Amino acid sequence: MAINVLPVHLVNKIAAGEVIERPSSIVKELVENALDAGATRIDVAVEEGGRKLVAVTDNGGGMDAADAALAFAPHATSKITVEDDLYRIGTLGFRGEALASIASVSHAHIRTRRAAEESGWEIEASADQVGDPKPCPAGPGTTVSIRDLFFNTPARRKFLRTINTEFAHISEQLARLALPHPQVAFRLTHNAREVTLLPAVDSTRQRIVDLFGEDVGADLLAVSRRDPKLAIQGLVGSPAAARGAAKWQFVFLNGRYIRDRLLSHALREAYRGLCQGDRYPVAFLFLELDPGEVDVNVHPTKVEVRFRDTQMVHGELLAALKETLNRSHLHPSADLSRAGESPAPGQTGQREPLGSLESLEKTPASEAARQDSIRAAVADFLKSTPPLQPRLSFPEPLSRSAGTPLPTATLPRDPFVSSSPSSSPPLAVSREYVSEVRDISDSPRQGVLQVHNSYIVTQTDDAVVIIDQHALHERILYNELKGRLAEGKLAGQRLLIPETLTVTAAEADAAASRAELLGRLGIEVEPFGPRTLAIQQFPSLLTGRGVSPVEFLREVLDRLAEDEAADPERLLEGLLSMLACKAAVKAGDPLTGQEIDSLLARAAEADKASSCPHGRPTTLRLTLKDLEKQFHRT
Ligand code: ADP
Ligand code: MG
Repeated sequence: MAINVLPVHLVNKIAAGEVIERPSSIVKELVENALDAGATRIDVAVEEGGRKLVAVTDNGGGMDAADAALAFAPHATSKITVEDDLYRIGTLGFRGEALASIASVSHAHIRTRRAAEESGWEIEASADQVGDPKPCPAGPGTTVSIRDLFFNTPARRKFLRTINTEFAHISEQLARLALPHPQVAFRLTHNAREVTLLPAVDSTRQRIVDLFGEDVGADLLAVSRRDPKLAIQGLVGSPAAARGAAKWQFVFLNGRYIRDRLLSHALREAYRGLCQGDRYPVAFLFLELDPGEVDVNVHPTKVEVRFRDTQMVHGELLAALKETLNRSHLHPSADLSRAGESPAPGQTGQREPLGSLESLEKTPASEAARQDSIRAAVADFLKSTPPLQPRLSFPEPLSRSAGTPLPTATLPRDPFVSSSPSSSPPLAVSREYVSEVRDISDSPRQGVLQVHNSYIVTQTDDAVVIIDQHALHERILYNELKGRLAEGKLAGQRLLIPETLTVTAAEADAAASRAELLGRLGIEVEPFGPRTLAIQQFPSLLTGRGVSPVEFLREVLDRLAEDEAADPERLLEGLLSMLACKAAVKAGDPLTGQEIDSLLARAAEADKASSCPHGRPTTLRLTLKDLEKQFHRT
């Protein structure tokens, strides 16, 4: 096979394949050039999701005729001159290939003028043709217009998604560019309609509010840590405000948006025990590192980087986040390994000997007072209100009427059970406590106990069984909801007054394109102004569960955005398990005897279908044999 040297235009086209994925890539390259040129006002105009036109106008330094003539030439850059520059890059661009690549797959046009010059210059380029600069009238600054992206690469053009999706990518890209530059004003228009207007402001917090609304911008905690090598500034959300997807985590390194698994890990680590493992804290983090300490030249679009000292960066970020969370008195609640290390306010550092009588009987004075006031409040409440609805809801009424004998229930064998498989049959819940569902009693039946308002302890003929009430209820709900969906759609509750929320363009798009799927879950949303959705209907199962429709929908949208190409069935399963989790009783919810009964009665059904949403065990079983061993009885 003969070796050919590829013609320049083909080299550019190949490079374009790496750098230019979709219209939002154009926005990135052109806006970065404008920022590098020192612009303080940047206007992005797109048509048809950027497929027809992306035009970026800036008030930066502009180019003279000689520069303009070179702008489209491959490897032409004003930003580095010697090799050493490559190791201390202070600008966003440096490869000098963006404009050349873009022009190779579009009709490109530049109009530019240096402020000090009288006349401006324009130049056109397309495919392998680059024209000569011609004088033209122009204001100071530069406009780069890119038309008909991929006009000569139909295969790539085919990969572009709908106008809405492409525009959503552009909005997201603009946010990544605008966040680290609050002092630069941005405007984004789509088909001549203004979509985003970001005035120049002097704080990142204000920029966040202008971009995402007060919902996201309020209550952010400041992060700040300075090390001679690395400075970390930023704003992070409280654990309670954590989202269902990582896209609310923005990390910037030296002004450039990056994705880095190590830094994501530090974030997860800092919030561990403060929010659930599948939640992502909202974060806007700005790292400034000596350019010599990081290689940004490892990824075509520079979104991934390589740190010289990864441990140091990880450690510093983790420390910075922990400082912030500690300062806000947000300590991990489940960090047992450190229990007693840092005493809670009002307590001494001394730990009571475990299980001493004194420690069991003593209630701190403030705690006693608190309990008294709660008791009084509860008494008042009971006097004035009709009885509470049970918190334990199921999607349909109990299928068995009270008193009907149930077959012997079978709970799954649990992986934690240490007894040998041959010696113990699958857990048989004895008739003694499931054969009769009492419908009035409020106290649990004999042999059934709720402990710490979180676990149900019961017994079988040969074992003690501990059930995680949340996990079990969640699993039951998931299975029942799945059965329901196979038959039709879930019931929705119409909201008397629709609740509204501000969303990004991507989220509005997701809500519209997945409307049918949401409908199956009993959710109905409608556009309500340019960046606002109105929730009209909400799953009935969640009413009375203290779930805010707005919070719920946010989470749903996060999930939809996570994978826009996901097939509907998979998305539905994900949403269903989220729904089940939210509707299920929580750890800490006291249950009535009747509620415990109906949980246990349904356990059997649920486990037969057993496709647990999170794969978490619901039941722990300690056989009498295990106990005997533990107590050295054998
Ligand atoms: P790079 O940004 O890597 O240098 P580009 O292909 O993006 O490469 O741009 C090539 C050159 O064109 C830049 O180095 C810069 O000198 C000039 N240029 C591009 N856009 C602008 C602009 N908006 N204002 C001023 N100069 C620009
Ligand atoms: Mg560039």
